[in-house]
Amino acid sequence: MNHDILLVDDDPGAIQLMARMLAGLGRLRFATSGAMALGMVRASAPDLILLDAEMPGMSGFEVCRELQADPALASIPVIFVTSHSDTKTEVAGFELGAADFISKPISEPLVVARVKTQLRIKRLTDELRRLSTIDALTGVANRRRFDETLVAEWQRARRSGDSLCLLIVDVDHFKRFNDTYGHPAGDAALCAVARALTESTQRTNDLISRFGGEEFAMLLPCTPRAGGKHVAHRVVQAVAAMNLPHAASPTAPCVTVSVGMSCYDEDSACWITASPDSLVMGGDQRRRTAQELLKAADEALYAAKRAGRARAYWLDVSDVDEPARAQPVGEMQIQGASPHGE
Ligand code: GH3
Ligand code: MG
Ligand code: MG
Ligand code: MG
Repeated sequence: MNHDILLVDDDPGAIQLMARMLAGLGRLRFATSGAMALGMVRASAPDLILLDAEMPGMSGFEVCRELQADPALASIPVIFVTSHSDTKTEVAGFELGAADFISKPISEPLVVARVKTQLRIKRLTDELRRLSTIDALTGVANRRRFDETLVAEWQRARRSGDSLCLLIVDVDHFKRFNDTYGHPAGDAALCAVARALTESTQRTNDLISRFGGEEFAMLLPCTPRAGGKHVAHRVVQAVAAMNLPHAASPTAPCVTVSVGMSCYDEDSACWITASPDSLVMGGDQRRRTAQELLKAADEALYAAKRAGRARAYWLDVSDVDEPARAQPVGEMQIQGASPHGE
C-alpha cells in the first residue's frame, strides 16, 4: 500500500526533517506555500497532508478552509504542524476540520505514530466508501451511486453544453430463467451480463450500474444519440453473443436483453446552448429533469419489450410524454430469435 503524503512548510529545512522521519511510510511530495499546496492537491489528491500552520501569504488555516469548501477534497485528512500549540489554536483547527496536531519541534516517534494512525483511518474510510457504492453481486456500481451520478451528470451536461445518453438494460424473461435453472445460476447470469455491459463501453467516464433486480443502467456522458445507439446495439449483441442457454425463453434460445435509451443532445428540443451572455433554448421551453431522462429510457425499454425483446429502442428526453415516439435502434437480429418475438 503506497500512500501519497503531501508535506507543506515554508521552511525547506523543516520539510527535509519531516521527509527523513516519514521516509518509508509512502510517496512524499512537497510544497513550500499554501497556494502551491492547493495546486498540487487539486492536480492529484494525496492521502494525507502535513500542513504548517504559520506560513507567509496563505496560512495553513486558510489552506484547510479552502480544502473543506471543496467536496472532492474535504475528506483528505490534514495534520497541522505548529509552533504555537495552545488550546485555542488547536480547537480552532479541529473546528476547521483538522484531523490532528503536531507541535514543533517535532519528535520522530510521535510524528510517525500519528501519521500511521491517520493513514490507517484513511484506508478504512476509502474502503467503506468504495463498498457503499458497489453492487455486491456483480461488482458494478450500485443504485445509490447511479442516482447520485445521474443528477450530477445531468446538471453538468446542462451547464457545460454536453450531451448525455442513458441506457436501461433489462434481462428478457429472467423469471423463467430462474425457474428453469435455479437462483444461483440466475445470479451467475447477472454477473455475466454485467461483464458484457462493461466490455461494451470503452470510456472511463461511462458508468455501469445495477439499477435493481435484473436491470442495469448505463450512463454515457458527452455522448450524443448516435454514440448511445451504437452502445445500445453493441450491448444487445454482446449479451446474445455470450450464448448462455435459456431454454424457457420464447424470444431466443439464449439469454437476451432489451435496452431502452434516452438522450439529451443538440437535436433535443430542450437543448440549451450556453452562449457567452445567455442561455439559448430550443423549441421545448420546459426545463427537463434527470428524472425525465430516466423516464424516457424506461418508456423506450417498454417499447423494446412490446416490439419483441432482444432489441433496443430510443426516445429523446423532450418526447418523454409521448412514448409512442420511441423508435428502434437500427436493425438487430439475434441468431435464433423469432423476428416478432414475444
Ligand atoms: P421481461 O422479459 O418482461 O423483463 O420478463 P422478466 O421475467 O425478466 O421480468 P420480471 O420483472 O417479471 O421478473 C424479473 C425477475 O428477475 C424476477 C426474479 O426472478 C429475477 N431477479 C431479480 N433480481 C434477481 C437476483 O438478484 N438474482 C436472481 N437470480 N434473479 C433475480
Ligand atoms: Mg512556517
Ligand atoms: Mg425488469
Ligand atoms: Mg426482465
